[in-house]
Amino acid sequence: MRWDTGKTLSKRLVCFALLITALFSVSNAESGFTDNADAVEAAAKSVFMLEVYSSSKNQIAVGSGFVAFDSNLLVTNYHVIEGGSYILAISDDHERHLIREVCCTDSKKDIAILRFEDDSHSAPLPLETENNLKRAQKVVAIGSPAGLMNTISLGNISAFYSRDGRDWIQFTAPISSGSSGGALINDEGKVIGVTTATYASAQNVNMAVRIRDVIELYDRWNKRTVSSLGTGISDAAAYAVTANTSENSGRVWVSASGKKYHNNPSCSKMRSPVEMDLLDAIEKGFTPCGKCYK
Ligand SMILES: [Zn+2]
Repeated sequence: MRWDTGKTLSKRLVCFALLITALFSVSNAESGFTDNADAVEAAAKSVFMLEVYSSSKNQIAVGSGFVAFDSNLLVTNYHVIEGGSYILAISDDHERHLIREVCCTDSKKDIAILRFEDDSHSAPLPLETENNLKRAQKVVAIGSPAGLMNTISLGNISAFYSRDGRDWIQFTAPISSGSSGGALINDEGKVIGVTTATYASAQNVNMAVRIRDVIELYDRWNKRTVSSLGTGISDAAAYAVTANTSENSGRVWVSASGKKYHNNPSCSKMRSPVEMDLLDAIEKGFTPCGKCYK
């Protein structure tokens, strides 16, 4: 039975090889950002919900944005900040930060880079600089769809899409109105895009502006020039609004005949507003107003 010994040894070698392979695949699986809830939680600390206000202190939009390049800079979509005079950026820990300055924008590519009044104390998210994106790669989207603070959703890259000189990443991770300006992050934990648009008539057809366009815009900025968002407003006045909106947190307005909920009672899309809790409005089947939520 000597040959049995040899057979047992080779069996042991096979088992050893399988064990090593298994260990490696486990460690690879664990290193994937999209499977690592703690890593995603940490990234969410650098994503903010944005309340955009007009010069008359009316809240005109709710969107998303994320810290990049430097702890005092925030990336979002241009269409989120359009018409705004100042922004309250609300952190994952519900701290409110004032933003009144814009570093640079590209309205055609729908990108804006803003500067916090005081440092955000959040780590800039790492950005993907390699052109290594492929369909089917796993992604995480972090943003505030429908005003629901820092919601995390999973999906994959579906396709790449170019139109009118704009490049998009098409992806499946669910987003909604209010997600605009949020971060789309790959399995390596690097931002690959800014979540920008969703096709209401299709399922899971969502678009992100590519991060390389954001990096190009940042590189073109001279790092010294910043301009005011709309007309200036004094700190005291802005913080007075902060106090008011804190009370309104989680509150929305609807009208009896309408199907949408609004983030402020003065939205022109609504008549005779009735105030209610955001979650009640969702439960009752109301959906976010496309004018209030970007
Ligand atoms: Zn509205």
